Amino acid sequence: MWKNKLFETAKDCVLIEKAPLSDYTTFRVGGPAEILAKPQTEEALCSLLDWVKSEAVPFLLIGNGSNLLVRDGGFDGLVIHIGNALGDVRMEGNCLIAQAGALLSKVATVAADNSLAGMAFAHGIPGSLGGAVYMNAGAYGGEMSQIIEWVRVWTPDGVKKWNVDEMGFGYRHSRLMEENAVVLAACLKLQVGEREAIRSQMKELMQQRKSKQPLEYPSAGSFFKRPQGHFAGALIENAGLKGFTIGGAQISEKHAGFLINHNHATAADVLNVMRAVQEKVFEETGVQMENEVRIVGKDQ
Ligand SMILES: Cc1cc2nc3c(=O)[nH]c(=O)nc-3n(C[C@H](O)[C@H](O)[C@H](O)COP(=O)(O)OP(=O)(O)OC[C@H]3O[C@@H](n4cnc5c(N)ncnc54)[C@H](O)[C@@H]3O)c2cc1C
Repeated sequence: MWKNKLFETAKDCVLIEKAPLSDYTTFRVGGPAEILAKPQTEEALCSLLDWVKSEAVPFLLIGNGSNLLVRDGGFDGLVIHIGNALGDVRMEGNCLIAQAGALLSKVATVAADNSLAGMAFAHGIPGSLGGAVYMNAGAYGGEMSQIIEWVRVWTPDGVKKWNVDEMGFGYRHSRLMEENAVVLAACLKLQVGEREAIRSQMKELMQQRKSKQPLEYPSAGSFFKRPQGHFAGALIENAGLKGFTIGGAQISEKHAGFLINHNHATAADVLNVMRAVQEKVFEETGVQMENEVRIVGKDQ
Protein backbone atom coordinates (compact mmCIF):
# COMPACT_ATOMS: atom_id res chain seq x y z
CA MET A 1 0.00 0.00 0.00
CA TRP A 2 1.61 3.28 -1.14
CA LYS A 3 0.53 5.21 1.97
CA ASN A 4 2.44 2.99 4.39
CA LYS A 5 5.49 3.01 2.10
CA LEU A 6 5.32 6.80 1.93
CA PHE A 7 5.49 7.16 5.70
CA GLU A 8 8.56 4.87 5.70
CA THR A 9 10.27 6.53 2.71
CA ALA A 10 9.60 10.27 2.75
CA LYS A 11 12.38 12.31 4.34
CA ASP A 12 12.16 15.99 5.29
CA CYS A 13 8.46 16.04 4.51
CA VAL A 14 5.56 16.91 6.80
CA LEU A 15 2.82 14.34 6.06
CA ILE A 16 -0.82 14.93 6.97
CA GLU A 17 -3.58 12.37 6.47
CA LYS A 18 -7.04 13.55 5.34
CA ALA A 19 -5.92 17.18 5.14
CA PRO A 20 -8.91 19.39 4.19
CA LEU A 21 -7.96 21.03 0.89
CA SER A 22 -10.34 23.90 1.65
CA ASP A 23 -7.56 25.05 4.00
CA TYR A 24 -5.07 25.08 1.12
CA THR A 25 -7.08 26.91 -1.55
CA THR A 26 -8.20 30.53 -1.68
CA PHE A 27 -11.73 29.38 -2.71
CA ARG A 28 -12.00 27.71 0.71
CA VAL A 29 -13.97 24.78 -0.72
CA GLY A 30 -13.15 21.15 -1.44
CA GLY A 31 -12.75 17.80 0.27
CA PRO A 32 -9.64 16.21 1.79
CA ALA A 33 -6.38 14.94 0.33
CA GLU A 34 -5.79 11.29 1.09
CA ILE A 35 -2.32 12.46 2.19
CA LEU A 36 -0.82 15.94 1.97
CA ALA A 37 2.97 16.22 1.90
CA LYS A 38 4.91 19.40 2.59
CA PRO A 39 8.52 18.94 1.46
CA GLN A 40 10.89 21.03 3.54
CA THR A 41 13.76 21.22 1.04
CA GLU A 42 14.19 21.08 -2.74
CA GLU A 43 16.04 17.75 -2.38
CA ALA A 44 13.11 16.33 -0.37
CA LEU A 45 10.70 17.48 -3.09
CA CYS A 46 12.78 15.86 -5.85
CA SER A 47 13.14 12.57 -3.94
CA LEU A 48 9.41 12.52 -3.27
CA LEU A 49 8.66 13.13 -6.97
CA ASP A 50 11.11 10.38 -8.00
CA TRP A 51 9.34 8.01 -5.60
CA VAL A 52 5.88 9.05 -6.80
CA LYS A 53 6.98 8.32 -10.37
CA SER A 54 8.46 4.91 -9.51
CA GLU A 55 5.37 3.84 -7.55
CA ALA A 56 2.90 5.41 -10.03
CA VAL A 57 1.07 7.18 -7.20
CA PRO A 58 -1.63 9.63 -8.34
CA PHE A 59 -0.50 13.11 -7.27
CA LEU A 60 -1.50 16.74 -7.42
CA LEU A 61 0.72 19.77 -6.87
CA ILE A 62 -0.50 22.76 -4.94
CA GLY A 63 1.27 26.07 -4.64
CA ASN A 64 -0.77 28.77 -2.98
CA GLY A 65 -4.03 27.18 -4.20
CA SER A 66 -5.25 30.46 -5.72
CA ASN A 67 -6.21 29.02 -9.09
CA LEU A 68 -7.69 25.72 -7.98
CA LEU A 69 -11.18 24.42 -7.38
CA VAL A 70 -11.09 21.10 -5.53
CA ARG A 71 -14.30 19.07 -5.81
CA ASP A 72 -16.16 18.13 -2.61
CA GLY A 73 -14.94 14.50 -2.56
CA GLY A 74 -11.32 15.67 -2.32
CA PHE A 75 -8.34 14.04 -4.01
CA ASP A 76 -7.61 10.30 -3.92
CA GLY A 77 -3.85 10.28 -3.86
CA LEU A 78 -0.95 12.40 -2.72
CA VAL A 79 -1.17 16.17 -2.70
CA ILE A 80 2.23 17.85 -2.66
CA HIS A 81 2.10 21.33 -1.21
CA ILE A 82 5.00 23.55 -2.30
CA GLY A 83 4.88 26.30 0.28
CA ASN A 84 6.91 28.56 2.46
CA ALA A 85 9.70 26.06 3.18
CA LEU A 86 10.61 26.36 -0.51
CA GLY A 87 10.14 30.12 -0.55
CA ASP A 88 13.68 31.45 -0.76
CA VAL A 89 14.31 34.55 -2.91
CA ARG A 90 17.80 35.90 -3.42
CA MET A 91 20.06 37.83 -5.76
CA GLU A 92 22.80 35.93 -7.59
CA GLY A 93 24.82 38.44 -9.59
CA ASN A 94 22.28 40.24 -11.76
CA CYS A 95 19.73 37.45 -11.45
CA LEU A 96 16.84 37.26 -9.01
CA ILE A 97 16.40 33.58 -8.14
CA ALA A 98 13.15 32.50 -6.51
CA GLN A 99 12.14 29.05 -5.32
CA ALA A 100 8.80 27.63 -6.44
CA GLY A 101 7.06 28.19 -3.10
CA ALA A 102 7.89 31.90 -2.87
CA LEU A 103 4.78 34.08 -3.05
CA LEU A 104 4.77 36.58 -5.92
CA SER A 105 4.19 39.38 -3.40
CA LYS A 106 7.48 38.43 -1.72
CA VAL A 107 9.38 38.09 -5.02
CA ALA A 108 8.10 41.51 -6.16
CA THR A 109 9.02 43.07 -2.81
CA VAL A 110 12.58 41.69 -2.97
CA ALA A 111 12.86 42.93 -6.57
CA ALA A 112 11.75 46.42 -5.50
CA ASP A 113 14.12 46.38 -2.50
CA ASN A 114 16.93 45.72 -4.99
CA SER A 115 15.68 48.50 -7.33
CA LEU A 116 14.68 45.98 -9.99
CA ALA A 117 11.72 46.93 -12.19
CA GLY A 118 9.39 44.75 -14.28
CA MET A 119 7.66 42.72 -11.59
CA ALA A 120 5.18 45.22 -10.19
CA PHE A 121 2.35 43.69 -12.28
CA ALA A 122 2.66 40.43 -10.32
CA HIS A 123 2.78 41.89 -6.82
CA GLY A 124 -0.99 41.56 -6.23
CA ILE A 125 -1.41 38.10 -7.81
CA PRO A 126 -1.85 35.80 -4.78
CA GLY A 127 0.08 32.86 -6.22
CA SER A 128 3.40 31.12 -5.72
CA LEU A 129 6.21 31.46 -8.23
CA GLY A 130 5.69 27.82 -9.32
CA GLY A 131 1.94 28.22 -9.85
CA ALA A 132 2.51 31.51 -11.68
CA VAL A 133 5.03 29.95 -14.07
CA TYR A 134 2.69 26.99 -14.66
CA MET A 135 -0.21 29.36 -15.46
CA ASN A 136 1.90 32.08 -17.12
CA ALA A 137 0.03 34.39 -14.77
CA GLY A 138 -0.35 37.99 -15.83
CA ALA A 139 -2.00 41.32 -15.11
CA TYR A 140 -1.91 44.97 -16.19
CA GLY A 141 -0.07 44.20 -19.43
CA GLY A 142 2.65 42.04 -17.83
CA GLU A 143 2.96 38.27 -17.66
CA MET A 144 5.49 35.79 -16.30
CA SER A 145 6.83 34.95 -19.79
CA GLN A 146 8.22 38.50 -20.04
CA ILE A 147 10.38 38.25 -16.91
CA ILE A 148 11.60 34.64 -16.89
CA GLU A 149 15.17 33.90 -17.94
CA TRP A 150 15.19 30.19 -17.09
CA VAL A 151 13.25 27.71 -14.97
CA ARG A 152 14.72 24.78 -13.02
CA VAL A 153 12.29 21.87 -13.30
CA TRP A 154 11.98 18.36 -12.01
CA THR A 155 11.09 16.00 -14.86
CA PRO A 156 10.71 12.20 -14.89
CA ASP A 157 14.13 12.20 -16.62
CA GLY A 158 15.90 14.30 -13.99
CA VAL A 159 16.28 17.94 -13.04
CA LYS A 160 16.64 20.29 -16.03
CA LYS A 161 17.04 23.97 -16.75
CA TRP A 162 14.64 25.27 -19.40
CA ASN A 163 15.23 28.68 -20.98
CA VAL A 164 12.26 30.95 -21.51
CA ASP A 165 12.01 29.98 -25.19
CA GLU A 166 11.65 26.31 -24.18
CA MET A 167 8.73 27.02 -21.82
CA GLY A 168 5.95 27.01 -24.44
CA PHE A 169 4.38 30.10 -22.88
CA GLY A 170 1.05 31.36 -24.26
CA TYR A 171 -2.00 33.04 -22.79
CA ARG A 172 -2.39 31.36 -19.37
CA HIS A 173 -0.42 28.44 -20.79
CA SER A 174 2.97 26.79 -20.38
CA ARG A 175 4.43 23.48 -21.52
CA LEU A 176 4.16 22.31 -17.88
CA MET A 177 0.47 21.69 -18.60
CA GLU A 178 1.33 18.98 -21.12
CA GLU A 179 4.29 17.46 -19.32
CA ASN A 180 4.85 15.93 -15.91
CA ALA A 181 7.31 18.64 -14.94
CA VAL A 182 7.47 20.55 -11.68
CA VAL A 183 8.90 24.03 -11.17
CA LEU A 184 11.66 24.06 -8.54
CA ALA A 185 12.98 27.59 -9.02
CA ALA A 186 13.30 30.32 -11.64
CA CYS A 187 15.66 33.11 -12.56
CA LEU A 188 13.96 36.40 -13.36
CA LYS A 189 15.40 38.99 -15.68
CA LEU A 190 14.48 42.47 -14.50
CA GLN A 191 15.74 45.96 -15.30
CA VAL A 192 17.42 48.40 -12.97
CA GLY A 193 14.89 51.01 -11.90
CA GLU A 194 14.15 53.55 -9.22
CA ARG A 195 13.15 51.92 -5.92
CA GLU A 196 10.50 54.43 -4.82
CA ALA A 197 8.93 54.55 -8.30
CA ILE A 198 8.66 50.75 -8.33
CA ARG A 199 7.12 50.72 -4.84
CA SER A 200 4.56 53.37 -5.73
CA GLN A 201 3.59 51.46 -8.91
CA MET A 202 3.04 48.33 -6.78
CA LYS A 203 0.92 50.31 -4.35
CA GLU A 204 -1.14 51.89 -7.12
CA LEU A 205 -1.86 48.54 -8.80
CA MET A 206 -2.88 47.04 -5.44
CA GLN A 207 -5.29 49.95 -4.93
CA GLN A 208 -6.80 49.26 -8.36
CA ARG A 209 -7.33 45.61 -7.40
CA LYS A 210 -8.95 46.51 -4.10
CA SER A 211 -11.34 48.96 -5.73
CA LYS A 212 -12.37 46.66 -8.62
CA GLN A 213 -12.14 43.10 -7.26
CA PRO A 214 -14.19 41.40 -4.51
CA LEU A 215 -11.11 40.61 -2.40
CA GLU A 216 -13.28 40.44 0.72
CA TYR A 217 -14.65 37.05 -0.46
CA PRO A 218 -12.83 33.76 -1.07
CA SER A 219 -12.38 33.06 -4.79
CA ALA A 220 -9.82 31.94 -7.33
CA GLY A 221 -9.71 35.30 -9.11
CA SER A 222 -11.10 35.52 -12.67
CA PHE A 223 -12.90 32.23 -13.10
CA PHE A 224 -12.94 32.23 -16.91
CA LYS A 225 -10.26 32.91 -19.48
CA ARG A 226 -10.64 36.02 -21.61
CA PRO A 227 -12.40 34.80 -24.78
CA GLN A 228 -10.79 36.13 -27.96
CA GLY A 229 -12.18 39.60 -28.72
CA HIS A 230 -14.23 39.81 -25.49
CA PHE A 231 -13.96 40.35 -21.76
CA ALA A 232 -15.38 37.53 -19.63
CA GLY A 233 -16.76 39.92 -16.99
CA ALA A 234 -18.59 42.05 -19.59
CA LEU A 235 -20.14 38.99 -21.29
CA ILE A 236 -21.41 37.72 -17.93
CA GLU A 237 -22.71 41.14 -16.86
CA ASN A 238 -24.47 41.69 -20.21
CA ALA A 239 -26.16 38.29 -19.80
CA GLY A 240 -27.73 39.70 -16.61
CA LEU A 241 -25.81 37.37 -14.34
CA LYS A 242 -24.22 39.79 -11.86
CA GLY A 243 -25.24 38.55 -8.41
CA PHE A 244 -26.47 35.22 -9.85
CA THR A 245 -26.37 32.73 -6.95
CA ILE A 246 -26.67 28.98 -6.44
CA GLY A 247 -26.28 27.79 -2.84
CA GLY A 248 -23.31 29.67 -1.42
CA ALA A 249 -21.64 30.47 -4.76
CA GLN A 250 -22.24 33.74 -6.54
CA ILE A 251 -21.20 35.84 -9.52
CA SER A 252 -19.76 38.87 -7.75
CA GLU A 253 -21.85 42.06 -7.75
CA LYS A 254 -18.58 44.00 -7.78
CA HIS A 255 -16.87 42.25 -10.73
CA ALA A 256 -18.79 39.74 -12.86
CA GLY A 257 -15.57 37.93 -13.85
CA PHE A 258 -15.22 36.70 -10.27
CA LEU A 259 -17.16 33.66 -9.08
CA ILE A 260 -17.03 33.97 -5.29
CA ASN A 261 -17.61 31.79 -2.27
CA HIS A 262 -20.29 34.11 -0.92
CA ASN A 263 -21.60 32.04 1.92
CA HIS A 264 -20.17 28.61 2.80
CA ALA A 265 -20.31 27.38 -0.81
CA THR A 266 -19.61 23.80 -1.77
CA ALA A 267 -17.59 22.97 -4.88
CA ALA A 268 -20.86 21.64 -6.36
CA ASP A 269 -22.41 25.13 -5.92
CA VAL A 270 -19.44 26.70 -7.71
CA LEU A 271 -19.63 24.18 -10.56
CA ASN A 272 -23.39 24.74 -10.92
CA VAL A 273 -22.89 28.50 -11.22
CA MET A 274 -20.04 27.90 -13.71
CA ARG A 275 -22.26 25.71 -15.94
CA ALA A 276 -25.23 28.09 -15.74
CA VAL A 277 -22.99 31.00 -16.79
CA GLN A 278 -21.45 29.02 -19.66
CA GLU A 279 -24.92 28.03 -20.95
CA LYS A 280 -26.48 31.49 -20.70
CA VAL A 281 -23.51 33.32 -22.25
CA PHE A 282 -23.36 30.76 -25.08
CA GLU A 283 -27.11 31.05 -25.68
CA GLU A 284 -26.93 34.84 -25.88
CA THR A 285 -23.64 35.40 -27.68
CA GLY A 286 -22.39 32.11 -29.11
CA VAL A 287 -19.19 32.53 -27.06
CA GLN A 288 -17.90 29.42 -25.27
CA MET A 289 -16.44 30.42 -21.90
CA GLU A 290 -13.45 28.34 -20.87
CA ASN A 291 -12.25 28.05 -17.24
CA GLU A 292 -9.03 29.67 -16.19
CA VAL A 293 -9.39 27.93 -12.80
CA ARG A 294 -8.07 24.34 -12.69
CA ILE A 295 -10.76 21.91 -11.48
CA VAL A 296 -9.43 18.82 -9.68
CA GLY A 297 -10.54 15.96 -7.45
CA LYS A 298 -13.75 13.93 -7.34
CA ASP A 299 -17.37 14.69 -6.53
CA GLN A 300 -18.76 13.67 -3.18
C1 LIG B 1 -8.08 37.39 -5.71
C2 LIG B 1 -7.32 36.74 -6.83
C3 LIG B 1 -6.77 37.52 -7.85
C4 LIG B 1 -6.07 36.91 -8.90
N1 LIG B 1 -5.55 37.71 -9.88
C5 LIG B 1 -4.86 37.13 -10.89
C6 LIG B 1 -4.29 37.94 -11.93
O1 LIG B 1 -4.36 39.16 -11.92
N2 LIG B 1 -3.65 37.30 -12.94
C7 LIG B 1 -3.51 35.94 -12.99
O2 LIG B 1 -2.90 35.42 -13.94
N3 LIG B 1 -4.04 35.16 -12.02
C8 LIG B 1 -4.70 35.71 -10.98
N4 LIG B 1 -5.23 34.92 -10.00
C9 LIG B 1 -5.11 33.44 -10.11
C10 LIG B 1 -3.86 32.85 -9.42
O3 LIG B 1 -3.42 33.68 -8.36
C11 LIG B 1 -2.71 32.63 -10.41
O4 LIG B 1 -3.08 31.74 -11.44
C12 LIG B 1 -1.48 32.07 -9.70
O5 LIG B 1 -0.38 32.11 -10.56
C13 LIG B 1 -1.66 30.63 -9.21
O6 LIG B 1 -0.56 30.30 -8.38
P1 LIG B 1 -0.74 29.28 -7.17
O7 LIG B 1 0.58 29.08 -6.54
O8 LIG B 1 -1.83 29.71 -6.28
O9 LIG B 1 -1.14 27.99 -7.99
P2 LIG B 1 -2.14 26.83 -7.53
O10 LIG B 1 -3.53 27.36 -7.54
O11 LIG B 1 -1.67 26.19 -6.31
O12 LIG B 1 -1.97 25.84 -8.77
C14 LIG B 1 -2.34 26.22 -10.08
C15 LIG B 1 -1.82 25.17 -11.05
O13 LIG B 1 -0.40 25.20 -11.04
C16 LIG B 1 0.14 23.92 -10.73
N5 LIG B 1 1.36 24.16 -9.92
C17 LIG B 1 1.47 24.79 -8.73
N6 LIG B 1 2.75 24.84 -8.33
C18 LIG B 1 3.47 24.21 -9.31
C19 LIG B 1 4.86 23.93 -9.49
N7 LIG B 1 5.78 24.29 -8.60
N8 LIG B 1 5.25 23.27 -10.61
C20 LIG B 1 4.34 22.88 -11.53
N9 LIG B 1 3.01 23.11 -11.41
C21 LIG B 1 2.59 23.77 -10.33
C22 LIG B 1 -0.96 23.22 -9.93
O14 LIG B 1 -0.85 21.82 -10.01
C23 LIG B 1 -2.21 23.75 -10.64
O15 LIG B 1 -2.50 23.00 -11.80
C24 LIG B 1 -5.92 35.49 -8.93
C25 LIG B 1 -6.47 34.71 -7.90
C26 LIG B 1 -7.14 35.33 -6.85
C27 LIG B 1 -7.70 34.48 -5.74
